[in-house]
Amino acid sequence: MREAGHGEKPVTLLYITGYNYSGSTLLAFLINAHPLMASTGEICGPANFTEQSQCSCGAALHACPAYREIEERVSHPLFELDRFKFGHRLLSIPPTLRQRLLFGSLRNTPAETLRDWAREHLPWARAVAWEKRAVYAGFVKAVAGLFGAGIVADSSKNPMNIPFLTGADGIRLSVIHLVRHPAACVFSAINRSPHGVAAAAAYWARNFKTVERVLARAPRADWMRLRYEDVCVEPEAACRALCEWIGVPFDPAMLRFRQADHHIYGNPMRLTDVAEIRLDTRWHAGLSEEQLRLVESITGSLAQRCGYRFDPTRPVCP
Ligand SMILES: [Zn+2]
Repeated sequence: MREAGHGEKPVTLLYITGYNYSGSTLLAFLINAHPLMASTGEICGPANFTEQSQCSCGAALHACPAYREIEERVSHPLFELDRFKFGHRLLSIPPTLRQRLLFGSLRNTPAETLRDWAREHLPWARAVAWEKRAVYAGFVKAVAGLFGAGIVADSSKNPMNIPFLTGADGIRLSVIHLVRHPAACVFSAINRSPHGVAAAAAYWARNFKTVERVLARAPRADWMRLRYEDVCVEPEAACRALCEWIGVPFDPAMLRFRQADHHIYGNPMRLTDVAEIRLDTRWHAGLSEEQLRLVESITGSLAQRCGYRFDPTRPVCP
């Protein structure tokens, strides 16, 4: 694998964290349309990488010229498109107990701090962690080089990757905590997964607490919170705020994101032909009053901190 040479300018990794169904794929498209930024969607996916897995350009992932070029640049046996190996995947779903202990959530900060220390100091753990981080960093640098961008966004979302990627060679980490109204997320979850309302709401709350816990260890200037609803209702203002925070001038190309060339892996939205940004409000009518109260009882205090209310006529405060 090609490693960063001394004096090489670090690539800014814009890591998008949050719950599923929060609009991270849309955000990846917006960012990728900016000439100084690039994104291939979820770097830590896909969980089910098969011959049928498609890039947003319409080609199978293993036949996409951009992914092929990235593979060539990464040049590591853990990342082979023909063998459906996506080795830079950083355990979005940790497959074994050992992997979960090394990279997953331990649900409290002291335990994770101790684990993170052990991961960097115990020789057997350090070897595993170093290789994963090196392949991941290689992928980020390949995307930056291929698209001529100094900023690369990853919409993988898993918050446990944040401490793991902090300090990766040649990478400067910045984090976007993307949030969406919990009732909207729950509505999407119950329609697209086997989860019931209570379980989906509990996952939302757990994810929010994990993200907050992880970000409490990061400098405040290194992360921002962005609401999906604000991206949809006022996309220019949201994009301007993002650009100002990350330190690049706003470019109107972001709002014409469908006209740009994209090679994004994420949810099926990447393959649909949506020309405009629309706020998805199906949950207003889709959840019963009883279901809404259940979601509120589980997520209410956390949601309030983001300006969310459980009144479908006015669910988002300015
Ligand atoms: Zn492609």
